Amino acid sequence: MKNSATARKNEATDSTPSNFIREIIEEDLRTNKYGGRVHTRFPPEPNGYLHIGHAKSICLNFGLAADYGGLCNLRFDDTNPTKEEAEYVESIKEDVRWLGFDWEDREFYASDYFEQLYEYAVQLIKKGKAYVCDLSPEEIREYRGTLTEPGKESPYRNRSVEENLDLFERMRAGEFEDGSRTLRAKIDMAHPNVLMRDPVMYRIMRATHHRTGDKWCIYPMYDFAHCLSDSIEGITHSICTLEFENNRPLYDWFLDELNVYHPQQIEFARLNLSHTVLSKRKLLKLVEGGHVTGWDDPRMPTLSGLRRRGYTPEAIRDFCERIGVAKANSVVDIALLEHCLRQDLNKRAPRVMAVLRPLRLVIDNYPADQVEELEAVNNPEDPSMGTRKVPFSRVLYIEREDFREDPPKKWFRLAPGREVRLKHAYYITCVDVVKDEQTGEVVELHCTYDPESRGGWTPDGRKVRGTLHWVSAAHALEAEVRLYDHLFVKPDPDEVEEGFDFTANLNPNSLEVLTSCRVEPSLAGATPGSRYQFLRLGYFCVDPDSSGGKLVFNRTATLRDTWAKIEKAQKGA
Ligand code: ATP
Ligand code: MG
Repeated sequence: MKNSATARKNEATDSTPSNFIREIIEEDLRTNKYGGRVHTRFPPEPNGYLHIGHAKSICLNFGLAADYGGLCNLRFDDTNPTKEEAEYVESIKEDVRWLGFDWEDREFYASDYFEQLYEYAVQLIKKGKAYVCDLSPEEIREYRGTLTEPGKESPYRNRSVEENLDLFERMRAGEFEDGSRTLRAKIDMAHPNVLMRDPVMYRIMRATHHRTGDKWCIYPMYDFAHCLSDSIEGITHSICTLEFENNRPLYDWFLDELNVYHPQQIEFARLNLSHTVLSKRKLLKLVEGGHVTGWDDPRMPTLSGLRRRGYTPEAIRDFCERIGVAKANSVVDIALLEHCLRQDLNKRAPRVMAVLRPLRLVIDNYPADQVEELEAVNNPEDPSMGTRKVPFSRVLYIEREDFREDPPKKWFRLAPGREVRLKHAYYITCVDVVKDEQTGEVVELHCTYDPESRGGWTPDGRKVRGTLHWVSAAHALEAEVRLYDHLFVKPDPDEVEEGFDFTANLNPNSLEVLTSCRVEPSLAGATPGSRYQFLRLGYFCVDPDSSGGKLVFNRTATLRDTWAKIEKAQKGA
């Protein structure tokens, strides 16, 4: 597979597989079960944007194929025309590509198989294994029974093969109203697995399909289409999430009754992430309810949201590798995802200076007409990233919260009479504070600088504890900065009082917009998607809303790595 994303070690050659899916695959390779083939697929339904949970499935399916010299298909499970749109198909392709995976020419659609699936349905009718049923959807539900009680057989269950063939053909021809008839598998209405109680295979639905248009007025159900699409594509290991464990007997039934190629289904635990929701239905509700600005709102756990937020594909792949795959459901702390991001950006993002809440600072003894270009390292973690020049002048901005008129104990930043270091520049001492006469708010600081301290040290060796970031007022660029916090206040957004839904747990402070920030001039022309570390403030990414010289940044993450602390505490325990 070209462009296989991760620099993962090839575990196929290791002696012990790292997870149960690899164990199964290696056993199958040993026994030559599929002639040495490994062929997986990622099968999204194009009814929403992909989220970080899907990334787990993508990394798993494409990763396994790459590691075992196999192939992975991208297949759209597009059997429900009322909820699906071409927009979703495009976004899904973009996201899979962005994550670093390539399906080459293997882009498939369940809708490509509609004719074949229809033929399979006819075969089942001919075998006496499927029948046309005239019960309404409500009646079908009533007849189904419960987990503790068996269901009741449909009065239409024993129609003759001829009658069923005729009715099914007429269903396709559009002779009957939507919802008036279905094609059902004839299995067992008393089966302990409710899914096996004569499940619906086809429904009548006059809806325009994003690919087949109005060609069809009957559509196969997901359960019928999914297993057979896998079979048609020759998938060896059909990997899905745990909820589908109960569907497996039904898939086996379809494949065995039709006597077609039979992939092996393997279930794994889906990703759950704290402080967010990973369900397209819920994400759609956030979008449609205006709780976020769109699928790509930087607070969303969608891949497009994470990308806009400043996440790298490398960080997401690293995250997926670290969480691994298991058979039991659990919740992953979102701090781990952020940790993976920081690990990646720490090495890659150039460090620059920006001031989010500017406070004017005048250096009284610095010549008014002087500008110095000071040398600044782009990233001490990676000398190959070089240096740049940062202009220094008499009037600067510093961070408002780096000054306290009445500092607490252990305050190493600026205060009246205190000396601090300005990053890449000089030592300064605060000599005067100017306040707004009306409000008492501090509006300007006056300082003196020590010309001997250029570069951040002094000949007399005197030390200061605090180093502040700053920008030159005359040279800095204005910017808007959007600060984000968790989308939900509770780790589990579904933990709500009766009568409420997950939106009750939305964090009212998940977005804070700062409009009068200043960034150093080297950021002029920074393109959307570029990522930086703003010294002392965190990681930031240029938002596509930037235009015409106006810079907009998203805060990708703060510098506080809560996961590193959790990990340390766990090790210490
Ligand atoms: P959602 O619950 O968000 O609507 P879905 O399962 O309906 O997701 P699909 O488009 O059917 O969405 O998913 C495509 C693939 O991604 C499936 O194989 C599914 O099992 C997998 N997948 C979806 N959500 C997760 C998750 N949270 N963790 C791991 N894999 C997931
Ligand atoms: Mg699904």
